Amino acid sequence: MTIIMNNAAFTEPPRNCARCPRLRAFLLDLRAQYPDWHNAPVPSFGDPEAALLIIGLAPGMQGANRTGRPFTGDWAGDLLYAAINEYGFSEGTYGAEPDDGLRLTGAMITNAVRCLPPQNKPVGAEINTCRPFLVDQIEAMRSLKALLCLGKISHDSTIRAFGLRLKDYPFGHHVIYDLPNGLRLYSSYHCSRYNTNTKRLTEDMFYGVFTDIRAYLKR
Ligand code: SF4
Repeated sequence: MTIIMNNAAFTEPPRNCARCPRLRAFLLDLRAQYPDWHNAPVPSFGDPEAALLIIGLAPGMQGANRTGRPFTGDWAGDLLYAAINEYGFSEGTYGAEPDDGLRLTGAMITNAVRCLPPQNKPVGAEINTCRPFLVDQIEAMRSLKALLCLGKISHDSTIRAFGLRLKDYPFGHHVIYDLPNGLRLYSSYHCSRYNTNTKRLTEDMFYGVFTDIRAYLKR
């Protein structure tokens, strides 16, 4: 797969995308159980002219899959949107619902896998199948300078999206890579409840990555 920067032909996955049969079946079950939830691929959210693209793993059950906006309505979103606000990438107040009026400025948020996977664990085929939507998102961002990958699945899928080898760009917390196409990639442990409860990721560690990103984008 080759990334073609500044390719404006970007389309979100359709609501009834059926490329991943397991995920499609899971969402259909949830639509029957929770008809008021989003229960569909979650579109990216943010500023199309952003310099920063934040790439999560996949929608959370009670978060993006329920509300329809990435990282909105769950623990991971509380931490991520607090950091986004702290570092000046948003206007308005995050209210954990898509109608809270929050606007991202200079940042866009997406996911490596757009549909909720059971147990938050997409299989390799699903990650690969959804990657073209990540590629499209990256290609559409004309002002993109930096990427922030949250977790190893996001990191690895992004490296693969650029046609690069994982062994040359291994995942780690707060790793920084200058990619051959001029973009700078940052990675962090995912801001999940599990990672923060176990102190694998602290607020200081997470904010440290944002500090570097903000400094880089101001140069
Ligand atoms: S994960 Fe991506 S490719 Fe798979 S069904 Fe959802 S939107 Fe389609």
